Formats: sequence, structure tokens, C-alpha cells
Amino acid sequence: MSKKHNFSAGPCILPQEVFEKSAAAILDFNGIGLSLLEISHRSKDFVPVMDEARAIVKRLMKLGDDYEVLYLGGGASLQFVMVPFNLMKLENGKAAYLDTGTWAAGAIKEGKKLGTVDIVGSSKEKNYSFIPKDYSVGSEYDYFHCTSNNTIYGTQMKEFPKVDTLMVCDMSSDIFSRVIDFTQFDLIYAGAQKNMGPAGTTLVVVKKEILGKTGRDIPSYLDYSLQIAKESMFNTPPVFPIYASLLTLQHLENNGGIEAAEKRNIDKAALLYAEIDRNPLFETFCEKEDRSLMNVSFKLLDDSKKEEFDAAWKNAGINGLNGHRSLGGYRASMYNALPIESVQVLVDVMKNLN
Ligand SMILES: *Cc1c(COP(=O)(O)O)cnc(C)c1O
Repeated sequence: MSKKHNFSAGPCILPQEVFEKSAAAILDFNGIGLSLLEISHRSKDFVPVMDEARAIVKRLMKLGDDYEVLYLGGGASLQFVMVPFNLMKLENGKAAYLDTGTWAAGAIKEGKKLGTVDIVGSSKEKNYSFIPKDYSVGSEYDYFHCTSNNTIYGTQMKEFPKVDTLMVCDMSSDIFSRVIDFTQFDLIYAGAQKNMGPAGTTLVVVKKEILGKTGRDIPSYLDYSLQIAKESMFNTPPVFPIYASLLTLQHLENNGGIEAAEKRNIDKAALLYAEIDRNPLFETFCEKEDRSLMNVSFKLLDDSKKEEFDAAWKNAGINGLNGHRSLGGYRASMYNALPIESVQVLVDVMKNLN
């Protein structure tokens, strides 16, 4: 079976080298005569994996010792909960959220359980087809929460606001895909399965000095300070997803880092958006200026062509092009590991539809 052109939104494509090396580690980890899956997370063989997985994130993001890196379980969804537990004050806690899609709304829902949430900007009324930009966030808030890339709607924040409070960002679907000044954030999180690894672990990057200020008695697992003190080994960490994430990040570092990935991602997106704009049969769901480099959500304007288009892309070996169930249409997710050749295959299928 030849490798498909995998546009899946997540879990998603990873570098082939990562699949090969992680498969080998399941059979025999580093030649120790044991599988990665059967050794202690505290063994001398695994501890260096965790140490390097944490260190490489700081190198790639160009962050200093004021930041800590964690690999936790529970998905990005658990971070919707951990963020307010750790940052929302117990007395009169109040946070500002930007409502840019289903995932942002999920974070808002959890934030409301621990304090007051003000939605400072929302595109919900327009089916999340743009990124609100006209808002400000003052120091009366404990933190501001935003979502850098809206996986379902295909919108992406190109600029981040200057806020007078802590800056928290869900980067699940565009982490390590573009050059950003990561020091503007106090807390970043990302479920691994969109751009850095398999499902099962979530990356958290947090500035140490912001913690311990809410007056809350935080449940142990949910307490970033405790997780930092235990070096992400408070409980048994998801060892396989962490190892595969490390391999993905090493692959990124060895191939020019985030800078080179960004160039490739810009080229891939330009190729697909040019075809969508040229071809009268297709249109994106969102406003041009907010288009995502990672997830391209688009629709077919002539329903009578649907069957033909669906058969054509499937025949071309394309996987995972159906849009999210809440939006319909199509979605081409073009994470770091997707080669531009795959985008060209899709563009050719679109060109041949008439
Ligand atoms: C997928 C996704 C999530 C949810 O991730 P889980 O790890 O499944 O909880 C949250 N935020 C964004 C932006 C996502 O794309």
C-alpha cells in the first residue's frame, strides 16, 4: 500500500522518519533489549527522553529559564480547565476570552465555572468566519485567553494583541508552524496531535513567575507548580506520545527549525489558496486576511459536482479532506509534515473538475 496524501485535521500526518523510529523503539528501545512500552518512566533510559523533550521546546521557541515545559495528559481540553484553576483568582476572579471558534468556546465554558468570563471579541454571529481585532484587555483581568489557529474554521491570528494582563494561548493546531515571538506569552498549550506528535500528550509552556497567585487550593494533578516540581512525572506520563513528539521536534530542528517550516507552510498555503481563488467552483469559508496556513476550510459552490469531486480526490490517494461535521464542505489540513507534493495533487484534482 502506498502512502496516502494525508490532509487529516488530527490526529494527523507526522514525518515518515518519526513513524519508523517510534515503531523501532516499540520493538527495541535504543538497543537495550526492551520495548519503550515496557520500561519505567523513571528509568535511566526514559528520563533523558523527557529531559530532552522539554529542552528542545525551549530551543525551538528561543525561550529562557523563566519558562518551564510540561508534557501532560488529558488533551488540550484539560488545559481549558487547568488554565482557570491556576490563573483565575479565587476572590472576584475575572478573565477575558476571545471567542473565535468551537475550541475557544470550549475554553470559555470551563473558565466560567471558576469565575467571571468576559468575551472581549467574538465572531460567532458570522459563523466564526473572521478574527475579531477591535478590542482591548485591561489590567482588571487575571488573564486573556486566545486561540492562535481555529482548526475547524480555517482562521488564524496573524497578530497578537498587546494586553495589560497575562497572555494565554491555545496553539494546538499551529504550534511550531510559523515564527512567533513566544516571549509575548505567559502560557502556551497545545495538544500534540495536530502538529507535533500523536494524541495522548499536551505541551504546556509556562512562565514560572505567574503561578501561585490565585489563593486557590488547586487539585494536585491540575497544579502547574506541582507538575513543574515533579518535572512532568507527578504520575506516569504518556511515554510513547512524548517520545514520538521528541522525534518530531528533532526532525524539525534538523530541518531548519521553525523558520524553514514556516517557509514551506507559506508555499503550501499559497499553492492551495491560489487555486481556490482562481477556480470558480471553490470558495473558502472565511475572510481572506484571516486565512490559516494550517487548515484550509473551503466549500464547493456547485453541489452537482460533489460526487465527482469526492471520487476524484479519493482516487488520487487523498485522505481526510472532509470538513468538520459542524461546518461541512472540505478542509485541507497542511501541518508541517505534509509535503507540498500532496498539495499539488489536490490542486490538480481541483483544476480537473469542471
Ligand atoms: C483539537 C483542538 C483542541 C482539543 O484538543 P484535545 O487534545 O482533543 O483536547 C483544542 N484546541 C484546538 C485549537 C484544537 O485544534
